[in-house]
Amino acid sequence: MSRVKNAVILAAGIGSRLRSIHNDKPKGFLSLNEKPIIEESISRLIYSGIQNIIIVTGYKREFYESLTKKYPFVKTINNDFYESTGSMYSLWKANELIEKDFILLESDLNYELNALQVIMNSKEKNLILLSGKTAAGDEVYVGVEKNKIVNMSKNISEIKNLGGELVGISKISFELYQKMFAHSELQFEKNKNYHYEDCLTDLAASNEINYKVIEDLAWIEIDDEQHYKRAVEVINPLIIKRDSEIQFSKKVERNILLNPGPATTSDAVKKALVVEDICPREKEFGDLVEGIRKDLVKVVHGEDTHEAVLFASSGTGAVEACLTSVIPENKYVLIINNGAYGKRMQQICEGFNINQIKFDVSFGDPINLLQLRSIVEKNKNKLSQIAFVHHETTVGILNPLDEISKMAEEYNLEIIVDAMSSYAGIPIDVTKYKVQYLIASANKCIQGMAGISFVICDRDSLNKTALYSRRNFYFNLFDNFTFFTKQKQMQFTPPVQIFYALRQAINEYFLETGEGRSKRYFEMYEVLKKGLRELGFKFLVDEQHHAKILTAVIEPENQNYDFNEMHDFLYDRGFTIYPGKGAKVNTFRIANMGELFTEDIYNFIKVLKEYLIIKKLI
Ligand SMILES: *Cc1c(COP(=O)(O)O)cnc(C)c1O
Repeated sequence: MSRVKNAVILAAGIGSRLRSIHNDKPKGFLSLNEKPIIEESISRLIYSGIQNIIIVTGYKREFYESLTKKYPFVKTINNDFYESTGSMYSLWKANELIEKDFILLESDLNYELNALQVIMNSKEKNLILLSGKTAAGDEVYVGVEKNKIVNMSKNISEIKNLGGELVGISKISFELYQKMFAHSELQFEKNKNYHYEDCLTDLAASNEINYKVIEDLAWIEIDDEQHYKRAVEVINPLIIKRDSEIQFSKKVERNILLNPGPATTSDAVKKALVVEDICPREKEFGDLVEGIRKDLVKVVHGEDTHEAVLFASSGTGAVEACLTSVIPENKYVLIINNGAYGKRMQQICEGFNINQIKFDVSFGDPINLLQLRSIVEKNKNKLSQIAFVHHETTVGILNPLDEISKMAEEYNLEIIVDAMSSYAGIPIDVTKYKVQYLIASANKCIQGMAGISFVICDRDSLNKTALYSRRNFYFNLFDNFTFFTKQKQMQFTPPVQIFYALRQAINEYFLETGEGRSKRYFEMYEVLKKGLRELGFKFLVDEQHHAKILTAVIEPENQNYDFNEMHDFLYDRGFTIYPGKGAKVNTFRIANMGELFTEDIYNFIKVLKEYLIIKKLI
């Protein structure tokens, strides 16, 4: 059976007993830590592999609606009658958006990650989570018989055989939801103040609704000041402690990839690979791809102007697709080469006999913009595009996207930028100075799996290429684009599971936010730079040009030094590093992209130091 990927959060209620604490914000917007509890809940859901979240709003809906801008995986639907209706009316209302099994929860819940893990990993199709005694003062007791629930009530005398207290996190199959929907419609004729707990009780006799008890679960529903106080003093600290234990216990098992992609991925991204088989020609898969296309464009702020065209290939495939699709037959592309990936663009054009003007700079040197300008000036009548690499991963240099795009705009040229190892790691805005073609792949800073590459194309530019004579077939940008927009299917067989993993990775990106991600990367870089420097290392690239995502380190000139041996020493201890590539002096490279943290970099420096001491290199 497939894992649940959807969640419904009931958030319509007023929470009148809490007014004094939260100044008229809706209940989910109370904060115990940095973020409101609704956002903490969203984080837990996403990290547990939930991919779509529906929030049913009511009171102060605009608070929840603001979340949809931040998180593309959040949708809202409003219960206009929230003041006079019960929670089942909200759930009934969500019918428009519910198509699958889902996790049901309430907006004012604060709970430990384990609650979700238990419920999502369970085999039962319908599962109500129960806890032991909380003495919270507002308990809903659940009566059970064998493995099924029988009834629920706030009045314990109505319970024959107590299973535990209702937590408010449940797994509801689509089948059961349809029954709840139909049953509640009948109830609403008499009573719209009907709650989902009542509905579950009504259906318990004729349906298999199971339960699971976690005796000492840390959770609290915050309904009044007393709850709030207990949350702050007792429950929240316990949740923080337990959640970090779960996260830490996972971390020690993983390998730390310090190579420049594929990057280390999160557990949830790895788990997202395991999905039920699905034919990629089905609408469901088309919807997934459509959502991914949209959100990939959103990462670089091109929603109004750009389209993503996706391929089943490594990153180089998309570079080839772009270069072989968008340069008019009688025109030239100027290709800047200050690293192996710039050179690769030149090689692709050679292979296809595409007219090019090469601007070669030695690997590791910054681009001289005056020199670039004079080449552009000299060839301005021949040229249609300037192509270059944003973060040249061979050496860790950041080429100036803004300046080059601005220059291109002056000369009315288009930009083709290989942003493979900067996309989602360094903030990029394709509309600031227009970037017509931006190329990236799934397995670098967006932190998905290898196997999908993409070009983010300015729509007008892409449409112009419709008339160009074809140099390619599989990799034609325009043909792939039109096939998808017409059929809502990939033109050729896509790597299905990699798409699911990418969906998860994109969700995690928006959860962390673009700013948050580059901040995390840059903090790791600072730790790395300082640590390497203290060990006596020097860098290939001048510090002011560092991309801060990969650092090329000059190899020590010492007969005791041997890259392969150092690599193996580190590899055995869980750290993968990478050799240098074609620079003017010998280097090795350390990347800080992927699901890594400063703690990992500290550990890396510690192990590297051990090696250097053993080999008497320091
Ligand atoms: C990783 C990378 C590529 C593509 O490499 P593949 O092995 O084809 O995925 C291209 N350009 C840059 C700048 C890169 O970092």
